[in-house]
Amino acid sequence: MALRKSCARKMDKIRVGDTVQVIKGKDRGKKGKVLRINAQAGRASVEGINLLKHFRRRSQQDQQGGVVSVEGLMNKANLMLVCKNCSRPARVGFKLLQDGTKSRICKSCKEVI
Ligand SMILES: [Zn+2]
Repeated sequence: MALRKSCARKMDKIRVGDTVQVIKGKDRGKKGKVLRINAQAGRASVEGINLLKHFRRRSQQDQQGGVVSVEGLMNKANLMLVCKNCSRPARVGFKLLQDGTKSRICKSCKEVI
């Protein structure tokens, strides 16, 4: 059992391109796609969530200038992977497939995510 736990820790539950739901904070309940992950900090940025406004001065490259929204990083612990099969925020488990690759499974529907 202890061995299983250490394996799970090495593998990330959330990856770039996954659909996740925010479970804590001001954006709670919102869903979006993972854009970036900072593994060292344990943080991720999600499309359309935790938007930070940047003010840009009008320049030669950027004729418009003005306010630009950028997704800020948030703690991965506040995100939950959404299962493609049951489309609910899923508790993620890991399963070793026959070809030796490790796969993520949804604990509620037991399907590979
Ligand atoms: Zn599921």
